[in-house]
Amino acid sequence: MDRGVHVTRPPFDPPSVEDVRIVSRQLGRPARDVVGIAARCACGAPTVVSTRPRLEDGTPFPTFYYLTHPAATAAVSTLEAEGQMPGLAALLEGDVADAYRAAHESYIADRESIAVVEEIAGISAGGMPDRVKCLHALVGHALAAGPGVNPIGDLALARATWSPAVCECVDYEDVMATGSAAGASGGGS
Ligand SMILES: [Zn+2]
Repeated sequence: MDRGVHVTRPPFDPPSVEDVRIVSRQLGRPARDVVGIAARCACGAPTVVSTRPRLEDGTPFPTFYYLTHPAATAAVSTLEAEGQMPGLAALLEGDVADAYRAAHESYIADRESIAVVEEIAGISAGGMPDRVKCLHALVGHALAAGPGVNPIGDLALARATWSPAVCECVDYEDVMATGSAAGASGGGS
């Protein structure tokens, strides 16, 4: 089924050095195995990073679309803390369930366009195809694929206080200095 133009799905332009630097600041650790930037803030900063399905060290990595933007991840964490997930999961009937399953297939197809990794065959993210387990993964997919692909991700994004249309970026030079909790301080560059 044709769902329109999805300019942020593969193939991606290679990430710039600046993109990888900002994603690393957002994550609080060096970003590795970046395939491309799947969604961006209104200001152009990365919002969703796409990661190789098999990391350089050999680890299979199913999460092809990862929400990195600090304000976005915080807003989605708030949705989860508010207990929005059971209500969203309850919508998975009929057409919505069908669309969610199609989103699962689409997610895997995007990832497999980069590499097919046997260990994660049939696995997508966020609880797809029939559960709602991580709104960050679902919103990341919704942002990458555009509206109308992931119904639960679209709804979560609509309910979030963050929007890709409004820049809430911090100065990414300062993110690490103010202390990330990611615990990746050991191997800094
Ligand atoms: Zn921004």
